[in-house]
Amino acid sequence: MRIILLGPPGAGKGTQAKFIAEDFSIPEISTGNMLRAAVETPLGLKVKEIMSQGLLVPDDIIINLVEHRIQQPDCAGGFLFDGFPRTTAQADALKERHIKIDHVVELAVDDDEIVARVTGRWVHPGSGRVYHMTYHPPKVPGLDDETGEPLIQREDDSLVTVRKRLKVYREQTEPLLSYYETWANSGDSMAPKFSRVIATGSLPDVRAKIMNVLR
Ligand code: AMP
Repeated sequence: MRIILLGPPGAGKGTQAKFIAEDFSIPEISTGNMLRAAVETPLGLKVKEIMSQGLLVPDDIIINLVEHRIQQPDCAGGFLFDGFPRTTAQADALKERHIKIDHVVELAVDDDEIVARVTGRWVHPGSGRVYHMTYHPPKVPGLDDETGEPLIQREDDSLVTVRKRLKVYREQTEPLLSYYETWANSGDSMAPKFSRVIATGSLPDVRAKIMNVLR
């Protein structure tokens, strides 16, 4: 199974991606996590400033990163993209390389809800596990449930940056929704299925809705 999760920053892609990846036994490929993991490398230094401003990293860097990642043996049985593709050029790159995707799932959430979610978000840097002060607090405040290590707030989760990231999403990534919806309805056998899931409500509810469309 090859899946793309689309949706604005803060829609819950990271959290739901972990569930889905586990259920289908496929790796979660988060380009954001890959870039953050590369902070100490020349690539990381190059993109750090762009990321902290909430802007998109150039397409060629991302496409290169993903192209290498999906050649790893753990991707043989499928994978889940979280945060990729984010531009039409990135989606076209998949198409041109004949990388067939089975299903594109949009997690839909409105802007006010996103601002509330993102600004309350805490993450465990080692694993990418995501918590929320109100909606999904860790058992012990400030610490990861599994390792007990400290949680951090991402630099790009500040209010100003979130607003910027939302604007970037609406302008550059949202067009992908009609890109995939139109393609799905075209009858092309290469086209992934397209489903929209309203991603408000509890985590288990959203998870169930996603599994429902994927099965
Ligand atoms: P994320 O963790 O998915 O919210 O990504 C964090 C940041 O990494 C984004 O705001 C972008 O600066 C960068 N990024 C991640 N994935 C992509 C992508 N597919 N295309 C361009 N930039 C990306």
